[in-house]
Amino acid sequence: MMNRRQFLTTAASAPFIAGVPNAFAATYDLIIKGGRVIDPSVGLDAVRDVAIAGGKIAAVEPNIAGDATETIDARGKIVAPGLIDIHTHAGRSKEGPPLALQDGVTGWVDAGSGGADNIDAIAAVARGAPQIGRCLVNIARTGVAPGGELHDINRASVALAKGAIARHRDVVVGVKARLSNEVAGPNDLEALRRAQEAASAFNLPVMIHVGQNFSPMRAILPLLKRGDIVTHMYAPPPNSILDDQGRLFPDVTAARRRGVLFDFGNGISGHFDWATVERATKQGFWPDTFSTDWNAMSKTSGVVDFPNVMSKFFMFGMPLMQIIACATCNAARVFPSFDDRGTLNVGAPADVALLELREGNFEFLDNYKGTRTGKQRLFPFATVLAGKRAPRV
Ligand SMILES: [Zn+2]
Repeated sequence: MMNRRQFLTTAASAPFIAGVPNAFAATYDLIIKGGRVIDPSVGLDAVRDVAIAGGKIAAVEPNIAGDATETIDARGKIVAPGLIDIHTHAGRSKEGPPLALQDGVTGWVDAGSGGADNIDAIAAVARGAPQIGRCLVNIARTGVAPGGELHDINRASVALAKGAIARHRDVVVGVKARLSNEVAGPNDLEALRRAQEAASAFNLPVMIHVGQNFSPMRAILPLLKRGDIVTHMYAPPPNSILDDQGRLFPDVTAARRRGVLFDFGNGISGHFDWATVERATKQGFWPDTFSTDWNAMSKTSGVVDFPNVMSKFFMFGMPLMQIIACATCNAARVFPSFDDRGTLNVGAPADVALLELREGNFEFLDNYKGTRTGKQRLFPFATVLAGKRAPRV
């Protein structure tokens, strides 16, 4: 006895095998028709239909025949894998995740909102989210705290962090350490050592937030291992990824060569300025992943939404395929929880971001009130999660 999904998959492929279109008209739950499908996981950029059954991608082909319970007319739209945002604060309230879903975000990581003392609430939001939500436990027991959570190094307790991970193995996927001077002062390196100690007990990555650090990058980067993540990669000086002449430090490219990942991390204050993005990208130093550093108030900040953050890179010449890769397949590779995501492969969970690419004059903001005008902007159009169109909220 075949289950429903096997039956549908067989039926969907039968016309191609038999060469008799419509001989077995397939029945799907949803067909996304006529969109420009961009799936960087397989290098596809072409007009295709996407058929979905049983919450999984059933077919990606031109002109799919067959009935569907629901159809989305995607002509003129971009059809991409659901977006994965690896640095958000969506876990701070249960209202956050459904809001992010509206922007095409079908997977997110709350990066250090909670430490050992308050991770339980963040983990509960992650478990209750409509889409896949995960979190990084802050090495400081307080989580992100006003005035900076690491000025008292005793807050960075390896034992408490390990306990927090052990309590929430299903949703905690790494450890976060915020290392900027205003958060950690001269405790940055010791905090990072403790973060590594807690993470390595569970074979998890560490994400560090950098920018105006007390210590230079050449002291910080050697403490990172393959698979660790540097967020706010384009934070301006002091102690940025660039030297006084604006050249990339060799330590930074060396870290990337040995598998350290670099994430954009938009945020609102101190995390990037246009000049640093321009200088670094001109030297070929692009993000592995984009992320928003989003929270439920971000609509009215320079973040706006994930597609807005992605669109900033058109101005620096990044191709659309690569822009989508940074928000989908590249992000999915960072954490094993997202192994089967960030792709429209047949059989993958049917998480899809429908985006509209508009041409015009669009103003974009850095973290220092700097504005630049771009000619293209991606807008969220619709989101499909596990095969179902997400309702507008
Ligand atoms: Zn953050």
